[in-house]
Amino acid sequence: MKVPFFDYPQLYKKDKLLIDEKLDLIMNRGAFILQNDLVEFEKKLEEYAGAKHALGVANGTDAIWLSVMACGLKPGDEVLMPSHTYVATPAAVNFLGITPILVDCSDDHLMCLDDLNKKISSHTKAVMPVQLNGRTLNMDQLNDIATKNDLIIIEDAAQGLGSKFKGKMAGTFGIAGTYSFYPAKTLGCFGDGGAIITNDTGLYKTLYELRDHGRDEAGNYKRWGLNSRLDNMQAGILLAKLEILDNEIKRRREIANLYHDALSAFKEIKLPPKPDEESAHFDTFQNYEIDCNDRDNLKSHLASKDVGTIIQWGGKAIHQIKALNLHTILPKTDKLFEGCLLLPMNTTLTNQQVEYVIDSIIEFY
Ligand SMILES: *Cc1c(COP(=O)(O)O)cnc(C)c1O
Repeated sequence: MKVPFFDYPQLYKKDKLLIDEKLDLIMNRGAFILQNDLVEFEKKLEEYAGAKHALGVANGTDAIWLSVMACGLKPGDEVLMPSHTYVATPAAVNFLGITPILVDCSDDHLMCLDDLNKKISSHTKAVMPVQLNGRTLNMDQLNDIATKNDLIIIEDAAQGLGSKFKGKMAGTFGIAGTYSFYPAKTLGCFGDGGAIITNDTGLYKTLYELRDHGRDEAGNYKRWGLNSRLDNMQAGILLAKLEILDNEIKRRREIANLYHDALSAFKEIKLPPKPDEESAHFDTFQNYEIDCNDRDNLKSHLASKDVGTIIQWGGKAIHQIKALNLHTILPKTDKLFEGCLLLPMNTTLTNQQVEYVIDSIIEFY
C-alpha cells in the first residue's frame, strides 16, 4: 500500500465528469477572462460564506496584499500575525513597507491571544489571524482585543473556507477575509486562484478596481491597479467544486474521527481536537497537524512504509527563517516545530489508506 501525502492526479480523476463538462462549455464559449462563470462563482461564494461581497483574484497571496493595500495601511504601520503561517502572510505586508510583528502560538497551533496582547504598540494598525488547518480562532476574544486597541482585522482564511466559530464562517469576521484555491486547499482549483470577501461596499469597490488595472465596472480608470484576475476557467472549476464542498468537508471530518479514535490513547502524540469536541468550533481539517515525540524518526518510519507526511512550511515558522530577518523569541512555536507533522488528510484517501497510516504510526510507537 502507498499513501502519498497528496495525490494530485487523483484530484482530477475523482471529479472528472463534473470538471470536463464545465470546461467544455467554457472553452467552447471562448469565455476566458472576467466572464460569467467568475461572476457566478463570486455570487455563490458570497452565499456560501455569508458575506455581502466576494471578489475572485489571482491567488491567495494577492488576496492578502490587495486587502491590506485597500484598507489604506501605510509604511511604518505594524500588523500582528502568527509566526506559524505561510510566508505569504508576512510577505503581503512586507511588500507594502508595513512591518509584520510575529506572535506565538497556543495549544491548538493558532495565534496566542495573550502573546498578541503583549505585542501591541502605538504603531499597530491591524491584526491578521490565520485560520490555520481549517480551524477558526476564538474570534470573540480577538474582536474584544481589536476593539479595545482600535485595530482592524484582516483574516488570512486561506486554509479556513467552511470552518466556523460559533456558526460564523472564517473570513467573515473582519473588514476583509481572504481565501486561497491552491489545488491542495479544501476548495482547490487546477492552478492558482484566490478570493477576498467583505461586507464593506466601499472596500469592495476599491478591491474591484485594484484587481483589474484600476478599472471600475463601467471600464473607467479610477486609480492605479494591477492584473490579479481569477481566470474564468478556474472560476468554472471552483463553481463545480463548490457544489460538493460540504461533502468534501464531511469526509475530512470522518477521516479526522478515524485518526482521533485510533490514536488518542497514545501519550506520545498530541492530536487536534476531535470534530465537534468543542461546540464553538466547526473545524474542516484542511490539514491534520499532530504534535508528536520523536517526530523525525516517525516521519522516516512512515516514509519507509510509503506513507507521505510533511512538516508545514518546509519545517520552519516565519521567525525561524533567517533570510526574512524577523527573528524573535517565540518559545511555544519553537517547541511546536520540533514535533509538528501533517498526516495525509484529503478526500482522495480511502478508509483502507487511513487505516494503513494509523497502523504504521502504532507500529512505530
Ligand atoms: C495557501 C496559503 C496562502 C497563500 O495562498 P496562495 O494561493 O498559494 O497564494 C496564504 N496563507 C496561508 C495560511 C496559506 O495556507
